[in-house]
Amino acid sequence: MKSSPMPEANPNASGLVYMDHATTTPVHPDVLREMMPFFSERFGSPSQIYSLGQQAAECVQEARLQTSRLIGARAKHIYFTSGATEANNWAVKGAALKLRSKGRHIITSATEHSSILDPCKQLEKQGVEVTVLPVDRHGVVSPDDVKSAITEKTILITVGHGNIEVGTINPIADIGAIARERGVLFHTNAAQTAGKIEIDVEQLQCDLLSFSAHKFYGPKGVGALFMAEPKLIAPLHQGGSQERNIRGGTHNVPGIIGMGKAAELALANMAEEAKRIHALRDRLRDGLLDRIKNIQVVGHPAERVPGNLAITVDGVEGEAMLLSLDMDRICASSGSACTAGTLDPSHVLLAMGLSHEQAHGSIRFSLGAGNTEAHVDHVVECFPRIVDMLRKMSPTYPSK
Ligand SMILES: *Cc1c(COP(=O)(O)O)cnc(C)c1O
Repeated sequence: MKSSPMPEANPNASGLVYMDHATTTPVHPDVLREMMPFFSERFGSPSQIYSLGQQAAECVQEARLQTSRLIGARAKHIYFTSGATEANNWAVKGAALKLRSKGRHIITSATEHSSILDPCKQLEKQGVEVTVLPVDRHGVVSPDDVKSAITEKTILITVGHGNIEVGTINPIADIGAIARERGVLFHTNAAQTAGKIEIDVEQLQCDLLSFSAHKFYGPKGVGALFMAEPKLIAPLHQGGSQERNIRGGTHNVPGIIGMGKAAELALANMAEEAKRIHALRDRLRDGLLDRIKNIQVVGHPAERVPGNLAITVDGVEGEAMLLSLDMDRICASSGSACTAGTLDPSHVLLAMGLSHEQAHGSIRFSLGAGNTEAHVDHVVECFPRIVDMLRKMSPTYPSK
């Protein structure tokens, strides 16, 4: 039997409808199978010269090749990290450290993930100038804005590929072309697109690209930074010769093996799976728009990551919707719940021009491998009832 392209069933067989694949995904059974021996009998460290270590090193190398193919890169340009958060921190701070004498100006955008924006804020406190570009109402960064923001002192441009909250895809190749022409280092955070749509680092013209295994059915705690040339940026994790002296720390061998296998599976099934997920997402959108009044779909209508449906629901709080959905065993996410523990509305939605009220009423369904039409229909059945119930209790929703 051909191995399943992606997990067919939900991670939890007991009727859970998981629609939060932008947050994380279950490990594909084939990925888990590949990883298992590296926890036990094949536990050696790839840095050691005895065969137990060298065999692990060979497997890490194979995983590096599989991982590189997912983004159209060469194996030697892949540096394994603990995930996209580390890769993003590394790109931003590593560039600032390395290029301190060249200049102290970074260009980014208002809708970046906090693993980009927070390091930028930290650098700002240390005297680095940061230009945060606006986005249009669909969440798109304008390449012209990037162009006019570049100065003699610009050392890095970092603009995300696919947005985690609203799914909008930025014109990365156009921005890359500008960066290359002006000789500025260009990084993109591709954690939402890697494994979902075709990525070619040559075509995108980026020098640095971050991605993460657990977004495409690999394990958590492993990711990679693509670096077009060694030592483009300074190392942050020092203290070992791993990853060609650039990222110290004993290799997460099971994780890396898992990332390689997940990348291979994602690449093999990408076109088919993207089409299937896209259709499911449209079915969900249409079903909800048909049945619920006063909701808005957010994000770019066409340039988007497959599977992301972000909406705002007038008069209802995101958290309340999530809790009610959970009682129906449906997992989704909300812009306002994204920065867990705070009630701050999503910086992404505000940057797109939404009001605080709209941002508070946001909800994101992100579909993935485990989802079926039956799941979509279940949500289309449950969610209008939930919205109706919450609106009846809402002090801000006019009862008509
Ligand atoms: C998931 C995600 C991250 C964080 O990745 P981790 O591997 O969990 O650290 C960063 N940026 C985007 C766009 C993401 O989707």
